[in-house]
Amino acid sequence: MKGQVQNQIQNQAPYRRFRTLLIANRGEIACRVIRTARAMGLRTVAVYSEADADSMHVAMADEAVLLGPARARDSYLNIARVIEVARQTGAEAVHPGYGFLSENAEFAQACAEAGLVFVGPTAAMMTAMGSKSGSKALMEKAGVPLVPGYHGEAQDDAILAAAADKAGYPVLVKASAGGGGRGMRVVRAPGELAAALVSARREAKAAFGDDRMLIEKFVQNPRHIEVQIIGDSHGNLLSLFERECTLQRRHQKVIEEAPSPTLNAAQRETVCAAARKAAGAVNYVGAGTIEFVSDGKDVFFIEMNTRLQVEHPVTELITGIDLVEWQLRVAFGEKLPLTQDQIGFNGHAIEARVYAENPHRNFMPSVGRITTWHTPAEENGLRVDAGYRAGDAVSPHYDAMLAKVIAWAPTRDLAIERLNRGLEETDVRGIVTNIPFLSALVTHPQVRANTIDTGFIERELKNLTPEAPAPHDLELCAAVVAILDEETRRAGAEARSPWRTAGWMPVGRRRRVFTFRHGQSGEHTVSLIYGNGPATMSIGERELAFTTSPEGAGGFQLRLHGIKSHVVAVIEGHELYLRTRNGRFDLHWVDPFGGDDEEQVGDDKIVAPLPGTVVALLAEVGATLEKGAPILTLEVMKMEQTLRAPFAGVLSAIKCKVGDIVGEGVELAVVEPTAS
Ligand code: ADP
Ligand code: ADP
Ligand code: MG
Repeated sequence: MKGQVQNQIQNQAPYRRFRTLLIANRGEIACRVIRTARAMGLRTVAVYSEADADSMHVAMADEAVLLGPARARDSYLNIARVIEVARQTGAEAVHPGYGFLSENAEFAQACAEAGLVFVGPTAAMMTAMGSKSGSKALMEKAGVPLVPGYHGEAQDDAILAAAADKAGYPVLVKASAGGGGRGMRVVRAPGELAAALVSARREAKAAFGDDRMLIEKFVQNPRHIEVQIIGDSHGNLLSLFERECTLQRRHQKVIEEAPSPTLNAAQRETVCAAARKAAGAVNYVGAGTIEFVSDGKDVFFIEMNTRLQVEHPVTELITGIDLVEWQLRVAFGEKLPLTQDQIGFNGHAIEARVYAENPHRNFMPSVGRITTWHTPAEENGLRVDAGYRAGDAVSPHYDAMLAKVIAWAPTRDLAIERLNRGLEETDVRGIVTNIPFLSALVTHPQVRANTIDTGFIERELKNLTPEAPAPHDLELCAAVVAILDEETRRAGAEARSPWRTAGWMPVGRRRRVFTFRHGQSGEHTVSLIYGNGPATMSIGERELAFTTSPEGAGGFQLRLHGIKSHVVAVIEGHELYLRTRNGRFDLHWVDPFGGDDEEQVGDDKIVAPLPGTVVALLAEVGATLEKGAPILTLEVMKMEQTLRAPFAGVLSAIKCKVGDIVGEGVELAVVEPTAS
């Protein structure tokens, strides 16, 4: 087997100059690749699914072709269809991005057979490094340090149990074919091993069609450190320093930075040399990442990703290298433009992944239409890699990552400040995002001090997802000003604003009452008193004098209690989103004349909150349920969500079965409340 791999590896794919590139991906990475390809003078072809017809990558490319229905299997993962489109459009090369087909050896092979340049390694290299156990066997031979454990062929429980005993608990059970943190379980004691194997095998079988497991010692206080490497087809192989991605949730990266703040220069050289050795073992061509787990002292190889990584921009910002450009040059058959000793790094870069998800609801993905999309200007060390714009829909069919906000600065402390500022200036509305969570995370004292491990987010979750603070006078005043500005704008340019103009009303003072509802803190009432002199506001017993003046981009200055501050306001119908020096505030304006009749959906019905698949029924018809008792489990966008009884009652009907694919809002079960 190994000899065969070796033979195939020598049998390299053709790399040659091409003019037309098809990007077999979507979202931010498709946009990212198009940007560089265009700068290099290439013609770009986008592909898309029915759900993505109006999406940003389609708009950016020179040409775009529909692949098929929304489901990834029918579109972005349909190898035959992608190859067919490449042929039809005269594309000569394919960039796979990350995710989807990027690590699919069958796809790389199909490209080669169709005479297309695959921007990445050959199928044989991918196969050699694609399985975690196979790559560990190769690394062992090459002398790269491994986490102690077992990566053999035999899969009997007894053999795995003996391997776990030998490695010493806690251990990690991992799917050999795994990715994205799936098929992985931490096992703390021997008694838990059998159950962990059953569930990890089931998950791996479903996700990867392969349930082979390996055992690793669970490294204590683990840190994730990885090295960017790139090889050309002339035998040159470079390491482009390391990234640290220790801030993870469920083994998925959330914040990534470069260089690692944990390594000193000697450790850096050690890990980079290990990575070159690892990639050298398969004469690697293309961009790739060697991942290590570290106990803070030593590093151990865990896997190789044979593609461009989500977090590649932090490496680009410290090295000044455009990795997509280098990938394309390698695919042209060129030599890498620099040698190892010509590559240095400068300063520090840090990236945050912006997701459409709700950290207050167990990071449940949020789908819908983006109404407001505002990101900061790309200056002062900020970079934003986005795949969405205002008006775009976030579909339940794909990964919920919307964009990445990346900051560079001479020092880590400053890079963190810039990233936080960039996040604060990012306003995405219409769907729920993790932006406030990311802000809380990057500014956490332990993150600043780098006293973290991969379990940090899980342990600190409460502090990272604080309840929204109640609005103060500043926010309530600002809400009124924002509404009045909006009304003035709608009334037309020539209409004079009665409240800003002293003495406009001929007689007496007038009062207008505004009521706002705020998530946790309930209703707040503000009175505006205007006419015959400067307008004032009153909140409870307090009379507030204020002045205001407009600023650009939805913002204004508000002077209150003698303090002048900057406010950003977005109004969508009756929803107000404010950003002030006290944070972010979402208020609902209860308009007495505006037909304020939003209905509360979902609380008393068992409905699918998002489109998903029913994976388990947890109660039977006729069962008496306590309030909160589990009824069924849905898998929604790769996450399991259990739907529960909204009140005590009897389960009178179940309207679905395991395996059903259900649409958003579909009623799945009926609970009759217990008569009391
Ligand atoms: P990385 O280290 O680059 O984050 P992951 O294995 O977590 O590697 O996955 C890469 C990224 O690819 C994910 O963060 C996700 O955004 C995307 N991704 C993974 N699987 C899919 C998929 N099936 N469809 C679309 N995107 C995916
Ligand atoms: P995936 O293919 O899902 O990315 P990895 O093997 O890269 O799988 O593991 C995902 C994450 O789990 C790593 O980034 C690391 O934080 C953690 N991890 C992996 N192996 C170990 C280990 N032996 N000990 C502790 N943590 C680990
Ligand atoms: Mg990994």
